[in-house]
Amino acid sequence: MSPDETENDDVPRVDLTSDSESNILFGQLLIKGDYIDEQTIKSTSRIMQKLGGEQTLFKILEKRGTLTRENLLDCIRVQQQPDISMGMLLHQLGEITRGQWQQAEQLRTHSGDFNHIGEILVGKQMLREDQYTEANAALTGYLYEEPDIGECDSLLLKNLPIKTCKVFGFFPIRRVDSSIIVAFENPELEDAQTEAARCFNTTVEAVLCSATALRRAFAAYERQAAPKTDAEKLVVKEGSASAWVNNILRNGVELSASDIHIQPTSDFVRVRYRIDGTLRDHDHLPLEQLEAMVSRLKIMAEADIAERRKHQDGRIDFENPETGAISELRASFFITINGEAVVLRVLRSDNRIVELKDIGMGDKTLEQFHKQALQAPNGVIIVTGPTGSGKTSTLYSCVQHLNNDTTSIITAEDPVEFQVDGISQCSINPKLGRTYEDSLKFIVRQDPDVIVLGEIRDASSATSAIQASLTGHKVLTTFHAEDTIGTLLRLMYMNIERFLIASTISCVMAQRLARKVCSSCAQPVKPKSAELKLLGWSLDSFHGGNFREGAGCEHCEFTGYKGRVAIFEVLIPNAAVRDSILESNNATDIRRISQESAGLVTLLEHGLVKASRGETSLAEVIRVLPRLTPPRPLLEIIRLTGIRQ
Ligand SMILES: [Zn+2]
Repeated sequence: MSPDETENDDVPRVDLTSDSESNILFGQLLIKGDYIDEQTIKSTSRIMQKLGGEQTLFKILEKRGTLTRENLLDCIRVQQQPDISMGMLLHQLGEITRGQWQQAEQLRTHSGDFNHIGEILVGKQMLREDQYTEANAALTGYLYEEPDIGECDSLLLKNLPIKTCKVFGFFPIRRVDSSIIVAFENPELEDAQTEAARCFNTTVEAVLCSATALRRAFAAYERQAAPKTDAEKLVVKEGSASAWVNNILRNGVELSASDIHIQPTSDFVRVRYRIDGTLRDHDHLPLEQLEAMVSRLKIMAEADIAERRKHQDGRIDFENPETGAISELRASFFITINGEAVVLRVLRSDNRIVELKDIGMGDKTLEQFHKQALQAPNGVIIVTGPTGSGKTSTLYSCVQHLNNDTTSIITAEDPVEFQVDGISQCSINPKLGRTYEDSLKFIVRQDPDVIVLGEIRDASSATSAIQASLTGHKVLTTFHAEDTIGTLLRLMYMNIERFLIASTISCVMAQRLARKVCSSCAQPVKPKSAELKLLGWSLDSFHGGNFREGAGCEHCEFTGYKGRVAIFEVLIPNAAVRDSILESNNATDIRRISQESAGLVTLLEHGLVKASRGETSLAEVIRVLPRLTPPRPLLEIIRLTGIRQ
């Protein structure tokens, strides 16, 4: 049967059960284009009836091996049947559901814009941009192809008028005989094809490509053409994405980085490590590697590799290929305008919990903390500080100290970072409905003496912690606040009753980590007058101190610092402080009363004592510690903390 006879024969008498109008239209076109015959339509129609109309004509023909996607798109492209809409084609191809198709048709009626539907579907994440562009190409009679600068003839790129390319939205693909195939975002744009022909000084064959592909090609071209800056003098390294990823992770673990940052900029991928609390630039890699590296990391983290529009997280057990040591990493994938940024938090692999007496509190402070907070039968102990200030480590030192045969300790953490024998630890998992509040309800029924709540995040978890303390439990938790007094005020602002705060909180401990002066290259220094001025110290205030700085050596990678020291501010509220919590809104008042009556030594003061012992530098003290009130003279702080020189 020839196509002509078919046309006269009026094909629609074949009954296609579902979406019959659409299927009939496509059936007609396919017969007309000589891709299938009427016999095939009849047998396909029977299958469709059996399937209850769930599948489109094309999907069944495709499954039977009669027709490919390319065949259908070619058929549409060549015949240009105006009755076929974007929604109809996408549905026929199985790229959108019937519901999405109907939605698209409604949008089309509203906007009256044919292309707009595809853009809306892409915007609503119902469709990928390349699927839309390919369908759009077929419907407008063009071939679809994305430009690839790596595949492009270098002669075409030489002297490419990139500005004109950007204005008219095109990029060359390849030369075929005497003409050049050029990808256009919109070939119908006025003068676009004429301009392209003028640029290449020959005839052009237009193909359609997506806006994103075009932008990527422009960026790659400009990167290639631009004079190389230092940052871009990339050492092109051997090997696959997985080798790169392994290198990045191994270096990070070996340098004792706490975090590994893989961040795309507009020109390159920046790899940085946070070591001793400071981010250090480590490497610049070509942007082209990003996608493969991110995919590799997603596989390792068991994240969704196909998902590139949403933030994700996951966990990686990384085995160092040289030492065989396993490190646990928490991975976070974050969508930026330059691509996906990945940050890996290196969870402590050694699981070593520092003994409470060694965490770095002064003897006097430690004794007070021990007697009045840790050994008290109930009350809430809060460790506070910004992310990365070591509060979790301190929390565990306390837990370990309390851990014995006669004490029942139960935790709810997000996630469990250290495993402690003899206590019941639970990882919070909101995805499974295991929240702090929920877990706490069950913990109380487990007859605990000590409850460890990973973090107070909001009023409801704060209330939960306080309630648990009121029912006779000792509660240990962390909180994100600037300092001890700031913690009390933040709780007040969360509308926690003041009398509850005053009566249940047995200790607030604020903490920071400062870099430790490298012992291999440390040398004595005199405080600089600019430093003293910043600290609010007079010349004789620092009397009795032995300040040091690192000159820089190979042990510390010439930074002058190696390792970190913890700095504390411990508030154990006494009657006067509790009264001030009940009565005052003023941080300065509460802080003054705490200093005068409860022996509070501020973070800054404690840092200065540590600097005066040469453990850290004055520069570090200034960098990491809040300077809220002027510090007292050194000798007085030493007396208050009991830190020996
Ligand atoms: Zn050194």
